Amino acid sequence: MLLSMKAAVFHRPKKITCDHVPDPRIENSSDIILKVTSTAICGSDLHIYNGLIPQIRPMVMGHEFMGVVEEVGSEIRHLKRGDRVVVPFPIACGHCYFCEHQLSPHCENSNLNYGPEGALLTQKGAALFGYTDIYGGYSGGQAQYVRVPYAHFGPRKIQSHMKDEEVLFLTDIFPTGWSAVDWGELKGGETVVVLGAGPVGIMAMKSAWIQGAGRVIGIDSLPYRLERARKSGKAETINFHEVDPVESVREMTRGYGADLVIDAVGMEAEKSLFEKAANLVHLQMGSINAFRTAVSLVRRGGTISVVGVYGTNYDNFPFGQVFDKGIKLRGGQAPVHRYIDELMNLVKDKKVFLDDIITHTLPLSRVAEAYHLFNSKEDDCLKVVLKPH
Ligand code: NAD
Ligand code: ZN
Repeated sequence: MLLSMKAAVFHRPKKITCDHVPDPRIENSSDIILKVTSTAICGSDLHIYNGLIPQIRPMVMGHEFMGVVEEVGSEIRHLKRGDRVVVPFPIACGHCYFCEHQLSPHCENSNLNYGPEGALLTQKGAALFGYTDIYGGYSGGQAQYVRVPYAHFGPRKIQSHMKDEEVLFLTDIFPTGWSAVDWGELKGGETVVVLGAGPVGIMAMKSAWIQGAGRVIGIDSLPYRLERARKSGKAETINFHEVDPVESVREMTRGYGADLVIDAVGMEAEKSLFEKAANLVHLQMGSINAFRTAVSLVRRGGTISVVGVYGTNYDNFPFGQVFDKGIKLRGGQAPVHRYIDELMNLVKDKKVFLDDIITHTLPLSRVAEAYHLFNSKEDDCLKVVLKPH
């Protein structure tokens, strides 16, 4: 077999390298082949990189990507070779119950492991690009070319004057931050606390202002990310290594807590030795600490939106507290298809700027270094964009 294009291939935890792999081909009449012009590494990719979401066979990574249409399947009418598009990260058919109800991450048709239970290694939701065999086993877009299935439903055209960096984050992290705020159903003037000042957290901060927040507070432990939260997210900030975030937020809110708390951390929060032992006993991965903090931070009757990824069940889930406080709990993969057109308009109209979080741009050939940088948070790394050509 001809091994021609370059791609970021996951081999095992901590080993993602730029390899030559076969070029993708049209497999179904609704596919397109995209020549990738820009792609980014997401916090969700780190869960695979760090072995928290398992993958056995080698796989091409990447679910945040955009590019130029190279080839179209016979069913595709609205796109042609040469069109520039950005692609939502969930792979969704567009016509099942869930797609028709604006819930593309729950598409029934794209993932062979689909099922209603959401069980640990089986019965997941929609497939996601480059996101393990559990999530469909599709090759991702950290590559020179990628096959995009159901291209009548996912890809969105980009106006020619817009730079890749201005629109790339419509694939994932901006709609993700946006949905976390949308789930909070702000009426205007609310206090929104965002746990995690990573790329998703900062997108949530930007979204909170546009959706009417009165106050935005960002929490992290890394000073350079908190600084970015102040500059790009216009947030007040709390360093949880310096002060107790729960006490601080209560003081800032007359003892109530926040109306909406967004967990933009997920299962990679720090954990104690006791939790590490509990994980072995209960077959859990990572930590639920950020979520537990969210439960303490939110006011009674408030909302928690969980966009940080949690891969398993957790024995220390604070359900008594969730119940007593009457908390509304929302979460899951972001329904990108639902929001992307509205968010594209915000970008077009310059109501929001997304590219100010990019700290590193590297050629795809340096992908091993790029993953190391983003994972270790060295060199004040916040978001890495890879250029495949
Ligand atoms: P990231 O790893 O760059 O950012 C996470 C941030 O959380 C870091 O800055 C880290 O210092 C901070 N943090 C760690 N523990 C914390 C704690 N206890 N309290 C507060 N902050 C803490 O990742 P990212 O790209 O911003 O992604 C964040 C999460 O969102 C990841 O879990 C990712 O998988 C998830 N994600 C979900 C979706 C979705 O559709 N739901 C989409 C994209 C990303
Ligand atoms: Zn992502």
